[in-house]
Amino acid sequence: MNEVPSANLNLPDPHEIRVGVGQLLTHLQRVGVEYLPAADPGRAEQWTTTLLASVAQPAPVAAEAASTAASATPEGLGQPAAAAPPATAPPVAAPAAPVAAPPAAAPPAAAPPQPAATPPTAAPQTPPPASRPQPAAAAPGPTIYRTASLPIADRQASLDHWRQQVAQCTLCHELACTRKQTVFGAGHAQARVVFFGEAPGADEDREGIPFVGRAGQLLTKIIEATKLSRDEVYIMNTLKCRPPGNRNPLPDELKNCRPFFEAQLEIIQPEYIVCLGLFAAQSLLQSAPSIGRMRGRFHNYHGSKVVVTYHPSYLLRNAKMKGAVWQDMQMMMRAMGTLPA
Ligand code: SF4
Repeated sequence: MNEVPSANLNLPDPHEIRVGVGQLLTHLQRVGVEYLPAADPGRAEQWTTTLLASVAQPAPVAAEAASTAASATPEGLGQPAAAAPPATAPPVAAPAAPVAAPPAAAPPAAAPPQPAATPPTAAPQTPPPASRPQPAAAAPGPTIYRTASLPIADRQASLDHWRQQVAQCTLCHELACTRKQTVFGAGHAQARVVFFGEAPGADEDREGIPFVGRAGQLLTKIIEATKLSRDEVYIMNTLKCRPPGNRNPLPDELKNCRPFFEAQLEIIQPEYIVCLGLFAAQSLLQSAPSIGRMRGRFHNYHGSKVVVTYHPSYLLRNAKMKGAVWQDMQMMMRAMGTLPA
């Protein structure tokens, strides 16, 4: 806890008064009062000189002079002026208010992490991985996710929390009884791009990692074609459990699992979400058009730009559609600034 220096403003020695006032100003600045004239030595000196002149007068006049000095104090600086009592005042009365200042008024450097709205000098800057491209053209606008953007360590902790919740979930009785394990998601907690699939298949159910089978290998190639890597993006599905026989997810299952992917996206708050296949797009956007009608433009999810394209499994059966997916990826890359317009 910071000790407030004793100003001893009632002592007749001008030098001690000068030292005391200086210590008080320094302390107030240290605890966060940034509008003091400390950055303007001339004004501080002028104020101190005025105060010294006031205590050099006989006691009744000194009280009047101190009042004059208070009105000349820079705006918002009420406390030090009040600390200039008449010569007859008790020595401990003047600095009482600053002493009562709580330690919570700590220097800005010790303050807890602030949301992005904090001025840049005070906001914690979580540096992205050095290899991640940061084109100015892809800078995100104001987020409309419900919560403020988190530092990466907090994101990872939150994702770990939800991973545990998913692992214990049995809301969908059939899926909970037939799954080997849940498949939460994988990748960078501060990813610019989230690849959003439908549901785990047999390989994912066995590994506990999304997109690890043949379709996953193709997705890896698609990701790398966008000049990213799997470690730089985040990959997840709308459903966290494998439907038996890889059947389509049921409406109740999608509804049950929705809070989990919403929580993941709320934590990551990506700039881009790539919906892979119709179920992913319909689940995220809660709309029913076909893939063909949703492609070729950005959709919106809480401020994230949503790209709708074909699922890699579909591309394995219809190789001629790879060109369409590449067009969708190029649209995203141009927006990200990683491909010339
Ligand atoms: S699919 Fe989602 S909601 Fe259903 S049991 Fe699995 S984790 Fe729970």
